[in-house]
Parts: sequence; structure tokens; C-alpha cells
Amino acid sequence: LGEAPTRAPQAMAALIIDKLSEPIEVGPKRLHVGASVGLARLDAGLANVEDLMVNADLALYDAKRSGRGRAVVYASSLGAASRRMNTVEQALREGLHQGQFELHFQPKVDARTLQALGVEALMRWEHPTLGSISPGEFIPAAERCGLIHELGVLALQQASEAARGLPSLNVAVNVSPLQLMDPGFVDSVERILRRAGVAPQLLHLEVTESLMLEDAQAALRRLHALRELGVQVALDDFGTGFSSLAYLRAFPFHTLKIDRSFVRSLTEHADARAIVNTIVQMAGVLGMRTVAEGVESERELAVVRAIRCDEVQGYLVARPMPLRKLRDWLAGRPVTGPVDDVDSRIMPWRTTHLSAPPTTMFGGDL
Ligand code: C2E
Ligand code: MG
Ligand code: MG
Repeated sequence: LGEAPTRAPQAMAALIIDKLSEPIEVGPKRLHVGASVGLARLDAGLANVEDLMVNADLALYDAKRSGRGRAVVYASSLGAASRRMNTVEQALREGLHQGQFELHFQPKVDARTLQALGVEALMRWEHPTLGSISPGEFIPAAERCGLIHELGVLALQQASEAARGLPSLNVAVNVSPLQLMDPGFVDSVERILRRAGVAPQLLHLEVTESLMLEDAQAALRRLHALRELGVQVALDDFGTGFSSLAYLRAFPFHTLKIDRSFVRSLTEHADARAIVNTIVQMAGVLGMRTVAEGVESERELAVVRAIRCDEVQGYLVARPMPLRKLRDWLAGRPVTGPVDDVDSRIMPWRTTHLSAPPTTMFGGDL
């Protein structure tokens, strides 16, 4: 590191990360090692060196969590965030055993006819004192403390039970990459489907690209085994993270779910439209269906239809809702017919409200 000791701590950290990210040649192989750095300042508020190390650890943890290869300086907000993470992790186990978790379901509809084709199962957690905790918070917590397997089994069981009562609709369940790392995962899916008496074809599993970053070969083997079982596999959140066309070649996904950040930019940016248009066409050539996620406005729906996306999911059609509400929602839907007049029949608010539909039309995480 040369003259490094005289450098400022941040510059020193950047230098360490930089040097350690250079590939190392070991015989014929090139190995890549990375580093994350946590920095903490020894100031008057600290009682001893152990506290200093705790703070540096919190900063290091934050550096790893926010993408690795970074240096983070400790700030008191990190302490609060870490306390909240501990609280949530501890509440998870008890919550699982006390039945505080319940799946909600969000319809996926045909983009042209708006006929319901399936639902996505989304886990909800209502804690007696902490209130409702979002999946964005508790799924990573469950992944950190190893409870994601138990939570995943619960989701598959509740979704399979629901699928039995929702004839001709497919039910999509989100799967964490960690579940696919488990050698017993495929057997457990098969067992749950058999016990519930549900045809594998009705189950869709949604996986994200991050699954390919860990042990890709093992994950791919399991995805193939699930395919052979008859289960459908969807690539979720396409267009975020490290989206790469290589993923589409690595596995024959049945469905490509285009992330809502892409959908959001469709109405504003011609380049986004061109990209999504190409993705939809390419998916068609590869025999995959496309779902536009997070469609919130009629303008977005119009663009999604124009680029011939197959299915739509989003607040415009319905929010995620408990099973009994979903049944009411499905029962209240008219039978679909020709496409031209579809909006006034399936979205009755269109005749009276030309802009946004009245909020009472929506289920909404009830
Ligand atoms: P996801 O799989 O991409 O699910 C779609 C998310 O978008 C859901 O958020 C849904 O409520 C939200 N959404 C749907 N339509 C709209 C819209 O029009 N506008 C906006 N702004 N949002 C919309 P949710 O339920 O908070 O779930 C977040 C993520 O948590 C999910 O993203 C999924 O990755 C994960 N997740 C949820 N349930 C489970 C589960 O049972 N297991 C696993 N492993 N992950 C889950
Ligand atoms: Mg999903
Ligand atoms: Mg998604």
C-alpha cells in the first residue's frame, strides 16, 4: 500500500478495497477477492475500545448490506437501524409460531381482456405491538436469521390451499434464492402440492436474478427439476439489478415479469418504451409470457397494451387482498367478451370517472 499510513481513513479504506479487488493469479486460475470496510471514530462519547469495535462492525455490516466493495463510516442512525433489525429478527420466530403471517393475493389479468388469469401471493405480517411490517423488511430479516425456509414453506402451504379454492387461476409464490440453495426444496414443493391436491401446473414460482449470483449451477438444477415436476417458473423484477440476457439463456423461464420501475418510465421516456418493447418481443420469440408489474394508471395500461405485453398486475386492477376479499372480487367481475368495449365493462368507473377510479373500487391490503 506504499505510503498509505499517512492517508485519511476514507482514502485508506478506498485504497484497501481497490487493491483487494484486483484479480489474483493462482496457477491457471484468476481469483477475485473483494473487501468491504467499516470505519468508526474514537470520540469522547465512547467508553472503551469494545464500543469502538461494535460501531466499526455496524458500519461494516451496512457496507456489506448496501452492495459490498464499499466503505461506510459509522453514524448513530446505524445503531438505531441495527436495533430495529434485531427486534424484527427476534419477533419473527414467535410470529411464525403464533400464526401472525398471512398471504394476501394480487390478481394478474390478461392485458387485453382484463380477465383474471392468476394471482401473486404476497406475505403479510401483522405484529401485535410492532404493527404491520412490510415484506421489504421481514424477508431480508428472515434470510439473515435462517427462518426464510420456514416462512417459505408456510407461503407454499397457504398458497396451495388457496389454489384449491380458485379453479383455473394460477397462484404465484415468491421464492428466496436461499430456498433454492436448499437441496430438499424440490421435494418439499412436491410434498406440499400433493398434500393439498393441487396440480403443479397451477403453481408459479417467482425467482429473481440474484439467485444466479450464488451457486448458480445448483440453483439451475433445482429450477429444472421444478420444471420437470410441471411447476412454472417466472423471472421476477426483470429490469432491475444486474439484468443480463445471459440469465434468459441460462434457464427457459415460462414468464418474464417486467419490474414496475420500467413500467413507470414507459409513459415518459421513448427509450424505456423501446427497451421494454424489445424485451417483450424477445420473450415472445423465446416462448415466454410477459407480465407488466405495478401498472397504476390507464396511461400505463395503454402503453403496456401497445407493446403487446401479455399480462398486467398493479393497483389499477387490484391491490393485494386477503383470500376472502379476493373471492368477492372475482365473483363481482363480469364475464369477459370482445376486447373493444372491455374498459367500460371491466373497469366500470371509466364511464363516470375519466381520470382515476374511485378508491372504493380497490381492495387494498385490508
Ligand atoms: P414482488 O414479488 O416484485 O411483488 C410485487 C410488489 O409490488 C408487492 O409488494 C406488491 O404489493 C407491489 N405492487 C403491486 N402492484 C403495485 C402497484 O401498482 N404500485 C406499487 N407501487 N406497488 C405495487 P410487497 O407485497 O410489499 O412485496 C415486496 C416484495 O417482497 C415482493 O416483490 C417480493 O420480492 C417479496 N415478497 C413478498 N412476499 C414474499 C414471500 O412470501 N416470500 C418471499 N421470498 N418474498 C416475498
Ligand atoms: Mg413477485
Ligand atoms: Mg416483482
